[in-house]
Amino acid sequence: MSGAESVSVGLARLREPFLPNEINTLPKPFSKDSKKANCPQCGGYHGMPAAHLDYVGHAALTNRLLEADPQWTWTPLALGPDGLPKFDSTGGLWIKLTICGVTRLGYGDAQGKSGANAIKEAIGDALRNAGMRFGAALDLWHKGDPLEVTTDEDAPIAEPIVWTDLIAAATTVPQLTEIYNRANTVNQLTDPVMLALKARKAEVLAEAPQDVSGDADVPPAE
Ligand SMILES: [Zn+2]
Repeated sequence: MSGAESVSVGLARLREPFLPNEINTLPKPFSKDSKKANCPQCGGYHGMPAAHLDYVGHAALTNRLLEADPQWTWTPLALGPDGLPKFDSTGGLWIKLTICGVTRLGYGDAQGKSGANAIKEAIGDALRNAGMRFGAALDLWHKGDPLEVTTDEDAPIAEPIVWTDLIAAATTVPQLTEIYNRANTVNQLTDPVMLALKARKAEVLAEAPQDVSGDADVPPAE
């Protein structure tokens, strides 16, 4: 294989979809005040209802980089006076990622972590970000950065919200009302969302009949 061929093979390998066992799921509770419960969707114990976002972990990404080019490297864009990688004023790190001789920039932050873990997290996040510029896990990035604000419990759910996931995870009528109001606020009460709300409300009521007075905003179960 010529040099040019091995470059195109390596770069193409980066763009191939990741296998299900290489993809992690991150639950994003609808509200920080949500009551925690066992989640039937991901098997975790977290605030419900929640959306679920997929991301590729550091180990799977590193494995893919090695497959594409065993000699891949990254370097910080700048060094501080102490000779160490220079972080910007918000704790972020710019890097250059070189794969098969092609160099692209990436930026990472500490995702709310602190101390030594913050540095490791920023490096991993920058690699994920730069890898995305090569097309790695691009399908997952289409939904937005899945790891954005993961460790900040006060942070809102990353957009775009997967309304049908939220609705499917709701277990009470008040939760459905909350979702309805929120979707309405951002003009997302589309036909599929309304249908899902109605269907889920019927299911919730069938599972545990409850007082629905005052929930006029939720569409009738029919
Ligand atoms: Zn879950």
